[in-house]
Amino acid sequence: MSLSQDKIAELIKTHPLIQSLVKLEEVSWFNPAIAPGNTAEGMTKVGLGPADIEDASARLTRFAAYIRKAFPETEASGGIIESVVRPIPKMQQALEERYGLKLKGKLWLKQDSHLPISGSIKARGGIYEVLKHAEDLALEAGLLKYEDDYAKLFSDEFRQFFSQYSIAVGSTGNLGLSIGIMSAKLGFKVSVHMSADAREWKKNKLRQCGVNVVEYQTDYSVAVANGREQAKSDPTCFFIDDENSRTLFLGYSVAGGRLKAQFAELGVKVDAEHPLFVYLPCGVGGGPGGVAFGLKNAYGDNVHCFFAEPTHSPCMILGVYTGLHEKICVQDLGIDNLTAADGLAVGRPSGFVGHAMQGLIDGYYTLKDEEMYQLLSLLDQSEGIRLEPSALAGMPGISRVLSNEEYLSRMGFTPEQLEHATHLVWATGGGMVPPEEMAKYLAQGQAQA
Ligand SMILES: *Cc1c(COP(=O)(O)O)cnc(C)c1O
Repeated sequence: MSLSQDKIAELIKTHPLIQSLVKLEEVSWFNPAIAPGNTAEGMTKVGLGPADIEDASARLTRFAAYIRKAFPETEASGGIIESVVRPIPKMQQALEERYGLKLKGKLWLKQDSHLPISGSIKARGGIYEVLKHAEDLALEAGLLKYEDDYAKLFSDEFRQFFSQYSIAVGSTGNLGLSIGIMSAKLGFKVSVHMSADAREWKKNKLRQCGVNVVEYQTDYSVAVANGREQAKSDPTCFFIDDENSRTLFLGYSVAGGRLKAQFAELGVKVDAEHPLFVYLPCGVGGGPGGVAFGLKNAYGDNVHCFFAEPTHSPCMILGVYTGLHEKICVQDLGIDNLTAADGLAVGRPSGFVGHAMQGLIDGYYTLKDEEMYQLLSLLDQSEGIRLEPSALAGMPGISRVLSNEEYLSRMGFTPEQLEHATHLVWATGGGMVPPEEMAKYLAQGQAQA
């Protein structure tokens, strides 16, 4: 479904920012509907609450004994899939020089890029939804009880049981990687429908795990639609719906409470006098939406979340700004949805996330592919940390926020609060990029600098 030319001409008149999106300019949009102290009200619109996050967290705890056994790299964390958070002062300094702006507060990086098992933020939601499905099936069959030691799932008996069922998903790469690896490990038959953006090494890695990789020459929404269609014809097949899934969303949301515990341990204060700003790369919206929901649940009014998208795939900003959500896609405006940030190459946003989270996200911005490549190289040079292009999208956020007087004064931030603020870039992927691919990314960033 695409919008008529008349409707689009009308929209451009009422929503002038669309012209900048069409010209592929970098834009920042701070949602005027967000006001200080409106988190509680925003939370009531999500349709999910603290008990749902608790439930997801408890499920991951039950599965820890299984994860630890099935993926020995999680031994140190006792089977809990979590990433480190660390300050990046040298990058902060490099960004001050790059943007010619004093960047008050302290810049941190959340390294979901290096999450175990699949090396991206999808190791939260994607893996969680597969585990929940496995648990549902095993409980229903009377093979499992909540009180059991879930390590027993790592056995031929359970692999045999799960092999009667299949799982399907559409993906630009990382979601497929997470769901494919986890499903195959449990014993499921699994099909991953990969859009044209998906990197060859991700497909190869999945094939090595015994995953059925279905390739498309088209973008993400077509891969998802086809996956959904094929799954319909098979009653034993469970389709993981990245565009609508509450389960995926809740898997991501557990990150909020976990970050709060990490910051508390590190002595990083987040309260009214020490606001936290978080910058999340956004594709269809489930990952950043779920994490932001978890953060809002953990920190309330003291956390401020922002979504970042490529100029070629600004689907979430377009959906929220126009209020049309999943009824509009970037292609309706002639925007091509072609970007090197494969994790963010999505043309139509999740309607669920757009509607549910619009009262909780302070702002949205876009950045060019060249910017992501240059920041990729800059982060490597300054901090020795290597990420995939999508994961750099959060990096300009601090300068977009601190240079927007309208937003800062509307929210009533004092100079002291900004001095004491923490700015957190959510690094969403890159830990499993093969060295030869990473060398190409780095060369590209240097060539463009
Ligand atoms: C999937 C992904 C995102 C965004 O998540 P969505 O749920 O699609 O919004 C961001 N970065 C990377 C590296 C990803 O793989």
